[in-house]
This record gives sequence, C-alpha cells and structure tokens, in this order.
Amino acid sequence: MILRRFAFGAVALAVLVWLLLRPPHEAGGDPRFLQREFPAMGTWITLSVYLDEGQDRAAADTAIDDAVRFLQDYPQRWSAWGDGALGQINRALASGAAAEIPAAMQPLFRRAIDAQQRSAGAFDARIGALVKLWGFDEEAHYRSQPPPETAIAAALAALRAAPTDLRDCDGAPSPGCYGPAPGIAWDFGAIAKGDAVDQAVARLQAAGLRNAIVNAGGNLTVRGRRGDRAWRIAIRHPRPEDGQRLLATLEPDDESVITSGDYERYFEYQGRRYHHLLDPQTGAPARGLQSVTVVDTDAALADAASTALFVAGPQRWRETARALGVDEVLVVRDDGALEATAKLAPRLDLPGAPKLTVIP
Ligand code: ADP
Ligand code: MG
Repeated sequence: MILRRFAFGAVALAVLVWLLLRPPHEAGGDPRFLQREFPAMGTWITLSVYLDEGQDRAAADTAIDDAVRFLQDYPQRWSAWGDGALGQINRALASGAAAEIPAAMQPLFRRAIDAQQRSAGAFDARIGALVKLWGFDEEAHYRSQPPPETAIAAALAALRAAPTDLRDCDGAPSPGCYGPAPGIAWDFGAIAKGDAVDQAVARLQAAGLRNAIVNAGGNLTVRGRRGDRAWRIAIRHPRPEDGQRLLATLEPDDESVITSGDYERYFEYQGRRYHHLLDPQTGAPARGLQSVTVVDTDAALADAASTALFVAGPQRWRETARALGVDEVLVVRDDGALEATAKLAPRLDLPGAPKLTVIP
C-alpha cells in the first residue's frame, strides 16, 4: 500500500513537473527542448535541456547521455548498504575496524560533518543504523510498527559515543579515516541528491548546455532559461489529498529547490505517521512539520538544510537556517500553516492564496 503510494507519488510528481515545464503551445514538440526521464537514486529523475539558438542537437544528446550515466552510477558509490564504496566503509565499521575514506569521497563527508555541526546535530549522516532500524533503508524493509524502544536506545547510545569527525589515518600524513565506531553506519540520503543534481548540471554546463533542469523527485537544480523566459517549477503540496496538488511555484535563477517532507517514505501505525526523517536526539521521526523547501545556489547545502530544518522543527527551523547559511525557506507546519523567510516569500506564487506568515 505504502509502496504503491510512494511509487505513485514519484510518478505523479514527475508527470506534474513535466506538464509544468512543457509550454502548451508547443505541445507538438519544440525541437530545442530535450528531456529524459529515468529511475535512479530511489526516485524518478527528469533531465530537461533547452538548446540555444543553432546549438547542435547530436552533441547535446551525447552530453545528456553522459549526465544520465553519471546519475545512474552515483548510487554505486554512495549507497549505504550496497557493495560500493560507502557500503564497504559501513561494513568495515560494522566489523569494529576503522575505515579509510577514499579521497574522492572526502569532500562530501566533510560537508556532511559541517552540516552536522552547524545544525547542532539535527542533520547527522552517521544515522544509517537508525534509518535501517526503522526500515527506511529500502522500500522492501518498511515496517508496520515502530521498532522496540530498547533497539532505538542502543542505536542512540552508539551515535553519542561515536566520533563526529574524520581523523588522520595511522601512519599516513592526513587522508581521512573514520572510526572505529561500533554501531555506526553513514547514510548520505539527505545530502546526496543535492550533490548529484549539482554535479549532473555542471556536466551539462561544461558541455555548453547553459539551460537545464535536473530534477530528482522534486529535488531540482535549474540553470539558465527556457528560451525567452525563465524556467518555472512547482513545489508539491505535502497533503495533496486535502485538495491542493501544488504548494507553490517559482522561477529559480540558477538555483536549486530542495524539499524534505513526511509524505514520500512513511508507514502508519495506530493512526500516526512514521516517516523517514529521524531526529538524532530521540531516534524517532521528527515531529511538528510536514515539509521544508530550501532555495539556494548550492544544491548539496540546500539538501542537507532541508533535512536539518525539518528535524529542527517549528521552534528551531529559523535559527538552524541561519546557522547553516540558507536564507530562502518555505515551511509547512503540522496544522497546514505556511511560513517563509522574508527573502523567499515574495518570490512564491501560492495557488489558492493561503495565508503565509513571513518570518524575518
Ligand atoms: P528525500 O531523500 O526524501 O528527498 P531528505 O533529503 O530529507 O529526503 O533525506 C532523507 C534521508 O536522509 C532518509 O531517507 C535517511 O536516509 C536520511 N536521514 C534521515 N534522518 C536524517 C537526519 N536527521 N540527518 C541526516 N540524514 C537523515
Ligand atoms: Mg535533504
């Protein structure tokens, strides 16, 4: 049921964004508009390109192929439980050993650690064991009820005891090593999509494709324009069943728009929703918000921030945004009330003109 709802949500979102990006008078096909859709990173990816006047289509197709391959290969390195590089790191930690972090992976580790520190622990990529305990590591593992309290307490104790930072490896000048850290597994699910869409769009730009959107299940990054006008994108409403499919639309200007919500990966138990955004303080799903959208020029930062702000909750999301250095945020509270920062609020088109509280 939940699986179907998840798959349906992802497809519906992809279709919605596609419909929005497609101008009605060009429904027959604008030859300058190229698009690919494919599953990767546990969601649907839509990659859209608008060619400049006279730009070569075959060369563009080759560059798009390269970006598609990059996105399809991304999880091989970064999936927490696969047989790729991060999976190996986690297996080393599980065996009680320390793990050497390959040089190419260290920048994202450092960004995750920085986000953990700035967000006072609301974001914590060392959360893999808890994510697995709750069954959110894979759709096939979703639970029908919360895990035992004792198991949560044990995972929290491991998290508190573990080092937060990388350290020098024994004998080597300073390649990053981590651990030993019993009970710890790294999970980059809350930052990797942002990193991936940013890198994919950078590849397109390097190939001369200046106008593009890479959208990973509603986490997207936008470059350039669509011909003579700006790209316009939609943010999904966290409770579409209440009648409103769209929360907001806006025109990003070489920016990323990243959303974390409680509506894509969850199960229900005794009338309560248990979703995949876990509070590292309690070991349980964070309460108080339905969704957080962050707009920023840096997609990986926006991704980490959207998760951190969701976990920080209604009382602390604003100060957490400041600490992380993001200033364009839209929040939906549990009661459906909307809040946005003063910088983002005037840029939003809100269908149905709901009340929006501007938070300075
Ligand atoms: P989505 O992947 O749905 O776009 P997020 O970017 O918010 O949403 O990432 C959620 C994923 O991040 C979870 O599935 C889990 O793997 C991981 N995660 C959950 N809670 C946290 C947290 N507090 N800090 C860091 N990562 C988390
Ligand atoms: Mg995130």
